[in-house]
Amino acid sequence: MPAAIRITPIHVGDLSADGKPMPVYVHLIEHPEGRVLVDTGFTEAHPATADLEPRPYPLDTQDLDLASVDFVVNTHLHFDHCGGNHLLPGTPIYVQRQELDDARTLDDYTIREWVDPPGVNYVPVDGEHELLPGVRLVPAPGHTRGSQIVVVDTGERPTIIAGDTAVWFGELEDPQTEGQRLILSLHPEHVWISHEHTAWTSED
Ligand SMILES: [Zn+2]
Repeated sequence: MPAAIRITPIHVGDLSADGKPMPVYVHLIEHPEGRVLVDTGFTEAHPATADLEPRPYPLDTQDLDLASVDFVVNTHLHFDHCGGNHLLPGTPIYVQRQELDDARTLDDYTIREWVDPPGVNYVPVDGEHELLPGVRLVPAPGHTRGSQIVVVDTGERPTIIAGDTAVWFGELEDPQTEGQRLILSLHPEHVWISHEHTAWTSED
């Protein structure tokens, strides 16, 4: 029953990139068999990110019952995607193993202490994984080598939650990375990305 799957964007913060406003969104998938939160935003302005002028709207101040979330997916572990992981202790957080290894070991990759807060419960994934019927995690290297996208069967064509695999819509029109080419190859109807207010919609 793919039509029963609903996807809602949640505005969890704003950044400024070179003086241009850059919203930060996470996405909630409501599926008959569970609720999936894709990325967790950030909840404080860390000094290391001061140049981005971070303004968080933390998930625990939003109209979302965090206790109702069954699964979390991190598309990748940059600070503005994993900074709310601490709000969901014990909830399984699905991330590609490559991404987790890189975030824990590479310098200047993310805010390290936001990756492994107390109680965080990672489920490292190697490659594709079906989280729920019609909800698949698929590796999409490019923005980071361990990035993944979430492919949701919402009808004849899928809806994709892409994280930063595309940071702006132009990257979907002119794909340059393996992850961007993968998205287009799946012929999605809609693509939600983290830093746009609306979904990209296919014109064909
Ligand atoms: Zn990123």
